[in-house]
Amino acid sequence: MKMLGNLGENLTNTMKKLAGMTVIDKKTIKEVVREIQRALIQSDVNIKLVQSLSKKIEERAIEEKPPKGITPREHVITIIYEEMVQLLGSEAVDLNIDQKPFKILFLGLQGSGKTTTIGKLCKYLQKKGFSPAIVCTDTWRPAAYEQLKQLTEEMQISLYGDPNNKDALDLAKKGLKEFKNQKVIIFDTAGRHKEESDLLKEMKELDEVINPTESILVIDGTIGQQAGAQAKAFSEATEIGSIIISKLDGTAKGGGALSAVAETGAPIKFIGTGERIDDFEAFNPERFISRLLG
Ligand code: GDP
Repeated sequence: MKMLGNLGENLTNTMKKLAGMTVIDKKTIKEVVREIQRALIQSDVNIKLVQSLSKKIEERAIEEKPPKGITPREHVITIIYEEMVQLLGSEAVDLNIDQKPFKILFLGLQGSGKTTTIGKLCKYLQKKGFSPAIVCTDTWRPAAYEQLKQLTEEMQISLYGDPNNKDALDLAKKGLKEFKNQKVIIFDTAGRHKEESDLLKEMKELDEVINPTESILVIDGTIGQQAGAQAKAFSEATEIGSIIISKLDGTAKGGGALSAVAETGAPIKFIGTGERIDDFEAFNPERFISRLLG
């Protein structure tokens, strides 16, 4: 029960209280739940999510008897962990490149870390033996193409883009043609428009033209409560297949991203942990939960 250890450490005070008890009464459970609530709110988890989660934990902890050989304390921690995993969608899910072409539509607001994350994912895929190609459809940020050009040259990745073409859909169509024999094609998109509704309209149109195998949404781990609304907006343009949370190297705990998971039903597959290309990890629910509660 390695994972329980981590969670236990993070709820130290409460766990100390629970440690010596053979019977855990309602009062103690309510105290534990209150402590969890405090930790989650501090980690930017949406208040409604916190409420529904703590209600479930409390009900189960009061009603369920610990299985044989499990102490009441371990049992309560197991319930906390299980309910949080449930909320996160599922346990670690990999990006499964299971068809050709595998077309990835990358979405995210400007500054979310989308372009950096594309570089990181490419490196990850290269290590697995794939040679991804990138299509730049961001016609709004003049530096977008240059940023990708530099990145792809360093990594020896094929890039299609045309800084003089201002038609994102045309770029996507031409990119599809250019890379019709590639196994993995990644489409970088704009993160800014004159109006947010225009951005989402463009994403919807790109979704129709590209027909992505998987749409990946990049969420800045430091944005807190806005994550849910962002995810909801993007999921109206395309079906979000997975989420990557960037910038989890700072003090932010990324709890806001839980609302993105709740809104889209999509699992978090990776996290970004720094500005460098290797600062990228497969999502580990246990570590994430432990961090939220810490
Ligand atoms: P885009 O506008 O969404 O394409 O964002 P960029 O990829 O250009 O990233 C915006 C800023 O966030 C840059 O300064 C990146 O170096 C930084 N950034 C991206 N991912 C991470 C991360 O995981 N950690 C940190 N600390 N910074 C990141």
